[in-house]
Amino acid sequence: MSRNAESTAFRSALEVIRAVEPRVADAIGAELTDQRESLKLIASENYASPATLLAMGNWFSDKYAEGTVGRRFYAGCQNVDTVEALAAEHARELFGAAHAYVQPHSGIDANLVAFWAVLADRVESPALKKAQVRQVNDLTEADWFALRRELGNQRMLGMSLDAGGHLTHGFRPNISGKMFDQRSYGTDPATGLIDYDRVAEVAREFKPLILVGGYSAYPRKVNFRILREIADSVGATFMVDMAHFAGLVAGKVFTGDFDPVPHAHIVTTTTHKSLRGPRGGMVLCQPELADQVDRGCPMVLGGPLPHVMAAKAVALAEARRPDFADYAQRIVDNAQALAEGLLRRGAKLVTGGTDNHLVLIDVSGYGLTGRQAEQALLDSGIVTNRNSVPQDPNGAWYTSGIRIGTPALTTRGLGTAEMDQTAELIHTVLTQTTAGVNADGTPSKAKYTLDAGLADKVARQATDLLATHPLYPSVDLG
Ligand SMILES: *Cc1c(COP(=O)(O)O)cnc(C)c1O
Repeated sequence: MSRNAESTAFRSALEVIRAVEPRVADAIGAELTDQRESLKLIASENYASPATLLAMGNWFSDKYAEGTVGRRFYAGCQNVDTVEALAAEHARELFGAAHAYVQPHSGIDANLVAFWAVLADRVESPALKKAQVRQVNDLTEADWFALRRELGNQRMLGMSLDAGGHLTHGFRPNISGKMFDQRSYGTDPATGLIDYDRVAEVAREFKPLILVGGYSAYPRKVNFRILREIADSVGATFMVDMAHFAGLVAGKVFTGDFDPVPHAHIVTTTTHKSLRGPRGGMVLCQPELADQVDRGCPMVLGGPLPHVMAAKAVALAEARRPDFADYAQRIVDNAQALAEGLLRRGAKLVTGGTDNHLVLIDVSGYGLTGRQAEQALLDSGIVTNRNSVPQDPNGAWYTSGIRIGTPALTTRGLGTAEMDQTAELIHTVLTQTTAGVNADGTPSKAKYTLDAGLADKVARQATDLLATHPLYPSVDLG
């Protein structure tokens, strides 16, 4: 694809937008500038390709398409059928999955589809059978009342938040925590690794309907074969949320026991993190759950977003190309180089390193909270996010960790040498930042001091580092 075509496409689009609301066109342009100039180490972000971005900006957005391919509740969905079928086919081929459902609007939505597919399969269907009716509308009021109580009273076992689990895995602030009676498994305090014997023990005691694997802040591989055995031993459905590491599965960095797709009954993911597609979600499952999964809309989802499904088809086609496997491997090589660079300079890392795309720095080693470290790094042009560490003494708001990830910088083309330089910049900022004190003399979890000259110097070094690998080099907005 010529650079010219991509520049022309985005320039023309902005011109059309500018004629209606110039402030939106300006904000879009400014966003590209900001993304180009920031050293983005946010583990859940990436840069989608121009083709993926462009596939979203069109009249597919105008279409209602409730239902599934070939079985719609609206007329005129033949072209939506084409892109939805394509996205699903690419997803099945890429991940070796029996079934793919590409309608979820986000990762949370994909999880809701999965939870309700399992509840429908394991709680609702048996109840309908027992009452000898075909569908919920045919139940008596009393049977319906009893079924609703049962649906709302099931158990889920997932990874604890401070060990790297996700809010949507049964935690109270999220609807999953209000739906399910939840227990969680953590990591071994000595190693920071998942203790599978402990998971098995909790599963035996708690007998969950659903065992959830997957994380957003655990820097190691997970053995999904063992988790499946544990699920089987207690009759649980095994679900994996690979939102963060789907790109590493797609790129065959995680294979065998570490590939969730052959082991889980149902797998959910986002499409915009390491997978590098549009913002969205997806569910993969075994054939026996396919019908229930396909009822995601209107069960928990609003009408599908055909323009985003078109972009999913484009991004998944990209992920099936051999260079994506190379990209996935470089993500991990870069994360390991970053971890080694930090360790060598004296940083404390949760689990002492990484097998995947992310590194969790325990910033208590620098005498800082996550909040202080995050802000000091941001002052220095380095974008990260704070995150709890296991058994975090500072809670989920201030935290003691900084989570950094390499999918975005790897997309820009930065390599292991630049990761070592990045480690140097991070270490410099964190060693030069001092925790502040409150008015009453107690240590503050938010205040800090960092010399402004040093912050500026690091920010300039970060910009220099990025200048060698421009973002969207094919896009010149003029
Ligand atoms: C990011 C993430 C989600 C949520 O994805 P959204 O698209 O923001 O809804 C769900 N689960 C895990 C494990 C995640 O990391």
